[in-house]
Amino acid sequence: MLGTSQRSSERSFSFEGRTYPYTLVISKRKTTALSVSHKGVRVHTNRKAKLKDIQTFVESKASFILKHLKRIEQDQQKPETRAYSFQDGETFWYSGKPYTLCLKKGTPKKIVLQKEDLVVTALNFDPKIIRPLVLAWYFAEADRIFRERLVLCLKTFKKYSSVQPTLVIKLFKGKWGHMTKKRVMALNVRLILGEPKHWDSVIYHELAHIKHFNHSPAFHDFLEKLYPNHRKLQKETHQFLKNCGNPFIME
Ligand SMILES: [Zn+2]
Repeated sequence: MLGTSQRSSERSFSFEGRTYPYTLVISKRKTTALSVSHKGVRVHTNRKAKLKDIQTFVESKASFILKHLKRIEQDQQKPETRAYSFQDGETFWYSGKPYTLCLKKGTPKKIVLQKEDLVVTALNFDPKIIRPLVLAWYFAEADRIFRERLVLCLKTFKKYSSVQPTLVIKLFKGKWGHMTKKRVMALNVRLILGEPKHWDSVIYHELAHIKHFNHSPAFHDFLEKLYPNHRKLQKETHQFLKNCGNPFIME
């Protein structure tokens, strides 16, 4: 055979009165197989297979296909795994408020908040250039603001302990904060997307670990004294940040 050994065509199948597209890929393979991914439904077969048989095969798999398509759709809607594209007009969260990314041609590179816009000045609008700028800005803002916030929280905490933790800003995948035995408090940079009460809920949680290095009932009782309603606020924090999506993951 000359040229490419693989051919594909767009086809469709019907199920319960609705029509769904699929891509038919003909290659040198011996058997007929089907795959469902975020790219859609693909049926792989060989030149000898009859179209009528392929169609029957696909239709016999209809409920399997729809189940998988639905799951893929749900996964894509999971907000915490929703990546950002770093393109003009996209919404970015900061301190619990939405800002519109506004790309402006110019030098030097800079980022400022102007009313409801996050204005980024750069010569090149390639997301590969814009992304690190925005993420570095988030890190710098988190460092500045959480330092101030920690000072405020320590005013309440000093009734119970004189320990003053060292603060570091990190990007964690599965947690909002962390306290080490050496009293280093790490806060997830993603918290900067949330409101001040969300920052406090994590800061107080980590401060409470200075007194109780576990999640025992005593820890929760102490945290409740330090930050009343902490359980409700912890849930709220998690939900809010989930809904903001995650600019720190790559598409
Ligand atoms: Zn904890």
